[in-house]
Amino acid sequence: MTAVYNDLLFEISRPGRKGYSLPESSVEKTALTDVLPEHLIREEAAELPELSELQVMRHYTGLSNKNFGIETGFYPLGSCTMKYNPKVNEDIARYSGFAQIHPFQPAKTAQGALELMYRLEENLKEVTGMDAISLQPAAGAQGEWAGLLIFKAYHEANGEGEQRRKILVPDSAHGTNPASAVVAGYDVVEIKSNEQGRVGIDALKAAVGPDTAGLMLTNPNTLGLFEVDIVEIAEIVHEAGGLLYYDGANANAILGKSTPGEMGFDVVHLNLHKSFSTPHGGGGPGSGPIGVKDYLKAFMPSPRIEKEGDTYRVTTDHPQSIGRVKGYFGNFGVNVRAYAYIRSMGAEGLQQVSEDAVLHANYLKARLEPYYDTPYSSHCKHEFVLSGVRQKKLGVRTLDIAKRLLDYGFYAPTVYFPLIVEECLMIEPTETEAKEQLDAFADAMIEIAEDAEKNPDTVTGAPFTKAVKRLDEVTAARKPVVTYQRS
Ligand SMILES: *Cc1c(COP(=O)(O)O)cnc(C)c1O
Repeated sequence: MTAVYNDLLFEISRPGRKGYSLPESSVEKTALTDVLPEHLIREEAAELPELSELQVMRHYTGLSNKNFGIETGFYPLGSCTMKYNPKVNEDIARYSGFAQIHPFQPAKTAQGALELMYRLEENLKEVTGMDAISLQPAAGAQGEWAGLLIFKAYHEANGEGEQRRKILVPDSAHGTNPASAVVAGYDVVEIKSNEQGRVGIDALKAAVGPDTAGLMLTNPNTLGLFEVDIVEIAEIVHEAGGLLYYDGANANAILGKSTPGEMGFDVVHLNLHKSFSTPHGGGGPGSGPIGVKDYLKAFMPSPRIEKEGDTYRVTTDHPQSIGRVKGYFGNFGVNVRAYAYIRSMGAEGLQQVSEDAVLHANYLKARLEPYYDTPYSSHCKHEFVLSGVRQKKLGVRTLDIAKRLLDYGFYAPTVYFPLIVEECLMIEPTETEAKEQLDAFADAMIEIAEDAEKNPDTVTGAPFTKAVKRLDEVTAARKPVVTYQRS
């Protein structure tokens, strides 16, 4: 075994060691004072590390091996859709015709890029059942915010902007939903879930009124359950004069099976960096396109891409638009990947995605149900929640189970979310895993449940095999040490 921590480059530095060897330069050196004002010139060298090329290679390769990603192992992080994304889409996004163009190029020299965006919008209309798409928003949360600005513009256009100030959000919602509503200037009203983990119709009826701007919902919801009353929910909100927002971050549960449009939603966002072939998790570029029904088209972000004959144009004359929400055309590279993915999968392939995602989640759920409490026992969609209350009574917490999974080489599921489930574990296996992989994970979870009874120390002391054990997470978040102090 190598040392647990890689030494820092500064620590392995030795004076005079070099990573290159060049012949003496025959060009006469320019005096620094000829090119820089005297007061800007260093008196001492910068103390940069001095290393051989091999040392640098080993250092960075070592760091990269400490990273865990979908290409290293199973990553069942609920609500995050950590699935494998085909590399061919990465390759296509790097084609020079896509990667080397400039957003300020005249439209007539970028017809291919505009056509790709136009076609992607057409495809996403079908996926969502909406009438218009904007590719501008760069993330799910930004899509939510832009969508809520459209709510606002719509109510203002109807002379009800002042009056409709409340956004209803179920207590199982993703945290970005209430946050986006607040950023968009709304008051948030929480709707309690019923015993089946779904929106309570009575609670909803009690909450809607002339001050309702709309409801934010995801279906399947964050518990992985399909809102079977969605048509009635939509009617209740619409009758009260509100609009419905669909959080489509995890669309892989319904692709080709149903659309938010059919369910009665007015505005939707998708996370192309979850369901449509862009890797995510490192805060890297994302894309959260929004879709709207016809009557909201006028408020969509500007500029837009329009087709006239065989020519694609960028249009900016949209007086009712909420305006620009992101520079240029959004994250174009992410949109290229999504388009390549949709075209290579085809309609049938996308349907298969949702069938496999749902099958995998139900299979895992069925295997784990005898060992963990399942607060909602009905069939799930692409993800499901377990509760660790049975293990908690034995002194083993959900956090311990999550840490123990790391020893088996798995990334831990989402824990303690949604908040309405005690000791929650939220598991999303995704459509891209093989059965043996699902079984290996189930076997580990079962062994952990058995250890919680017989050898709780092996769970509460975990992880045993990792470079870093348990961190003081509060101190790490509140007082992070992010600079190197030379000892
Ligand atoms: C990930 C996610 C979001 C937020 O998407 P970002 O791109 O991270 O802003 C919103 N809702 C749900 C259900 C999600 O899973």
